Formats: sequence, C-alpha cells, structure tokens
Amino acid sequence: MASVSIPVCTTALLLDIEGTTTPITFVKDILFPYIREHLEDHLSAHWEEDECKQDVHLLKKQIEEDMRQNRACCVHAVDQTVHTDEEKAIREVVDNVLWQMAADRKSTALKQLQGHMWRAAYSSGKIKGEIYQDVVPSIKSWRERGLKVYIYSSGSVEAQKLLFGYSVEGDVLDLFDGHFDTNIGAKVDGKSYERIAERIGCQPEEITFLTDITREAKAAEEARVNVVVVVRPGNMELTEEEKAHYNLITSFSQLQLMGRV
Ligand SMILES: [Mg+2]
Repeated sequence: MASVSIPVCTTALLLDIEGTTTPITFVKDILFPYIREHLEDHLSAHWEEDECKQDVHLLKKQIEEDMRQNRACCVHAVDQTVHTDEEKAIREVVDNVLWQMAADRKSTALKQLQGHMWRAAYSSGKIKGEIYQDVVPSIKSWRERGLKVYIYSSGSVEAQKLLFGYSVEGDVLDLFDGHFDTNIGAKVDGKSYERIAERIGCQPEEITFLTDITREAKAAEEARVNVVVVVRPGNMELTEEEKAHYNLITSFSQLQLMGRV
C-alpha cells in the first residue's frame, strides 16, 4: 500500500484504539474472557472491601432498575440448602454480571466492576495492552516533528490509560498529549470532533483522525477533520466505494509528514 501524505496544516493527530493502534480482537479475546474467568475469585477475594461493596451495591441497584422496567433480568432463584450466605450472594452477582455481558449491556454498574478488575489485572502484569509494532516508533517520530497526539476511543479514559500504561511496550502514556472518550460525544457524531478541536485549541482542519470505522470517519469529515482509514487484520471489510473515497494505510509508518522540518 502506498504512503499517504497528511495535510501540511495538521498540528494534531487523533487516534482511535481498537482496529487502529490495537488489534480489534484484544477486547473480545483478552479483556472480556478475563472478566468471565476471574469474576468469582475477584468477588471472593475482595468481598469485604469498600470498593467491591460499592460495585455490588451499584449492580443491585441496576437489577432493581431492570426489574422495574420489566426487562428480562437474571435474578435467579437462590439455593437454600448448600451455600453459606456469602457464597450465595457472590453466585448471584456472578450470574448477573455474566448475563449482562452476554447481552452486551453497557451499564455503568457493569463497566465499573470490569474497570476495577482490569486495573488489578494490568497492574499485576496478568494483562498487557496490545499495540501494533508500528505505533510507538511512528508516534515518536511525529512528536519529534512537533505534532501533538491524542486518543479518542469509546473505551473510558481510565481504560485507555491502563492499556497504554501497561502495554506490551511498557508504559507509553507519555506519547500522548491527552485522551478523549464518549464523554465528549459519540464517535459517529460530527459535533464530537468540533468539541475535541475546541478542547485541543485548534481548528478541525488542523486535526488528522485515524480510525478503522468509516461511520466515524464520515462524522469527522463532516466536522472538516482530515481522515485516514486504518486497515488492520480482522477489521471490518471496506466497500469498494469506501476504499476509493478514503486515504488508507495498513501501518502508521505509511503516514508521510510532507513539508515538515
Ligand atoms: Mg476502532
């Protein structure tokens, strides 16, 4: 694939994570299975601690809310005979969390518990954030040439910092000038990119956004942000029309910073 020149006026690069800096399978094959496999042990080990109590409290409030809304919800019958109370309670939480994950729920309660479990997994070295090999050297070279580099991902800023703070390449957080998540708006909404430009302190035209998802690329274009679509193994196939319309790269090293000193 040929190299792609970014506009000379670019002062900031905005990077998506999944399918762009990181294999799209990382969340599905590493992060989510980790929760499913370690949930019961995590709850048993931390059950009496404040943070865990708060996580469980939030889950219970979510269950109550689901029942009020009459949503199908996993609040299963309790076995009265063999378990102690704590075991029963943990089992119920496990069943509810697994049910929420299977249903791909995005509840705050679920995200908070997952976030705490991932933080422990990253900081103990059980999980390392995956980054494509071309990412770190390319970002370093862009920064050396005066560009600012930001992350914009649907994953929370906290989750982004874990991924890059405990990555396969070590702590690479100092490569980034800032992080954005959906608190600034959805990635498929053009307004989000205008807000990001405002926060960075530049014009949308001065930003080049790298993503694998064309719906996000389209939204960024609507905000007059320059877009490059990243093609990585396992990413969603692009249509012929999309391939013709967008500048495509398969590696960050293909981005050319023309006319820069
Ligand atoms: Mg992506």
